Amino acid sequence: MTFQSLGLASALLRALEEQGYSAPTPIQAEAIPLALAGHDLLGGAQTGTGKTAAFGLPLLHRLAQGAAAKGYRRPRALVLVPTRELAVQVADSLRGYGKHLRLTVGTIFGGAGMGPQVEMFRRGVDVLVATPGRLIDHLERGSAKLDEISLLVLDEADRMLDMGFLPAVKRILGRLPRERQTLLFSATFEAQLKQLALEFMREPKQVQV
Ligand code: AMP
Repeated sequence: MTFQSLGLASALLRALEEQGYSAPTPIQAEAIPLALAGHDLLGGAQTGTGKTAAFGLPLLHRLAQGAAAKGYRRPRALVLVPTRELAVQVADSLRGYGKHLRLTVGTIFGGAGMGPQVEMFRRGVDVLVATPGRLIDHLERGSAKLDEISLLVLDEADRMLDMGFLPAVKRILGRLPRERQTLLFSATFEAQLKQLALEFMREPKQVQV
């Protein structure tokens, strides 16, 4: 199995080669073709399995195919994560995979000033990596507009629920276009999470490593 055979854009293949990735991990081999085909996904994967690239590569591929708007841009992909540390880590990975694409990745999380984050929205951003609580703050102020989101990722969804983010996640889900692709990754799938998936996803395919 090679990354080429998964059908990824050449700009992504080049970045992967530069990072020394020679072959996809099992979760990547399973998830990437399904995500590229437009399916919703429920991915069972722990950290360290390569799950960031499993959702990040199809996300970047699909955005790169879309019309790149000039000037002011609203985010077209949203990655929700439980913590600030994960937000920084996921955004760094996405910037690395997308280094040969003309896409910008922005992060927002609590415990940092609102000003620079508002300014980031004003300048425009293609991919937004956010913690749920701070994203709600931006929605309430009107600085974040989510009406162009065509792809949503919930990363470490079980941790988000454990941290009490279910109401915030549901509010955010309610503000997103219904016509979108949703990829959900989690180490465990408890009843509450299955219910959320039933409510907000469309016939998701399951991938497990
Ligand atoms: P993750 O589970 O996404 O946190 O990834 C764990 C680590 O594996 C990170 O350091 C990635 O850079 C690395 N990694 C992910 N996919 C691959 C791959 N296909 N080949 C080599 N390293 C990878």
